[in-house]
Amino acid sequence: MSEIRRDPTTGDWIVVAPRRLERPWQPESFCPFDPGAPETGHGWDVLILPNRYPVVSADAPPPRPDGFYETARAYGRALVVVETPSHDLDDLSDLPVEQIEKVLRMVRDEAARAASDPGVLYLLYFRNKGREIGVSLTHPHSQIYELPVVPERIARELERAEEYWRSRGRCLHCDVVARESPSGRALLRGTRWTAFVPYYARWPHEVHVYPLRHVQLLTQLDDEELAELARVLKAVLCALKRAVGRPMPYMMVLHQAPLRGDHRYYHLHFEIYGMYRPDGRLKYAASAETGAGIYTLDAAPEDAAERLRKALASCRSDTS
Ligand code: UDP
Ligand code: ZN
Ligand code: FE
Repeated sequence: MSEIRRDPTTGDWIVVAPRRLERPWQPESFCPFDPGAPETGHGWDVLILPNRYPVVSADAPPPRPDGFYETARAYGRALVVVETPSHDLDDLSDLPVEQIEKVLRMVRDEAARAASDPGVLYLLYFRNKGREIGVSLTHPHSQIYELPVVPERIARELERAEEYWRSRGRCLHCDVVARESPSGRALLRGTRWTAFVPYYARWPHEVHVYPLRHVQLLTQLDDEELAELARVLKAVLCALKRAVGRPMPYMMVLHQAPLRGDHRYYHLHFEIYGMYRPDGRLKYAASAETGAGIYTLDAAPEDAAERLRKALASCRSDTS
């Protein structure tokens, strides 16, 4: 049994996928993503594999209509992006920038492929880092979910951006970038991308990364933009690793528009949630956060930005 259910009280989608219970949990003696493993073979430097324990799949059964609740077929694809053959590499930021660029190009290619599947409405690209936040395999990887529904948090962003566009005739996100780039929360600005700790950060070390060009989809980014994105992500993730003295667990999520429809009012960006507080302790999303959606921050975003800028400088002096 596998299906997508909707919470009628919030609009949230829940993917019921019991087969995921069988996935290996932090195995010590083998790694399915190493070169020479049954699904990987040899002679690659980046690999996109079907997730063996997928949340959605092409052979998903039709949803069982409930009569009251909204359901959707758990159709789609779940993929793992193995970012390097090196099992013991700690993080994406430890890869050469060319390799990060290659990862991004392969994800963009996959996004182009997904767009031609009428059953897929949304491509979610994300990366979990750190045992502390529950990664099941530590080999450097990110993931792609190709979904038949638009995740509710994205839908909320789309709604607010559309409303702003309608009432003011401008992109909300472009205005946020204009406000953040010259602020004390700015981290870096290239010719094509900018990174900052947003005024409205929810996590102790949260960084948003925006293309300066107003684009909606990963597939709209050109080669120069991908090349600079690789440099920016490497720098930001290196800063997160060094910000509090021990490698920071984080979640990184691409927010882009749905694959179909006119969403010209939207502006894609990456959100990275660094989850250690300044004292190196993990921030949990507990009752207030998870149960009510109100986040509490023990340290100001402006202080996080200051700390991250220092870490960025130390990353730079090491690589130059
Ligand atoms: N996985 C896989 N092949 C395997 C073992 C695991 O595709 O042989 C998948 C597994 O289903 C999981 C992913 O690898 O989705 C590892 O993901 P991560 O640790 O980032 O988080 P998870 O998805 O487990 O929450
Ligand atoms: Zn914009
Ligand atoms: Fe966002």
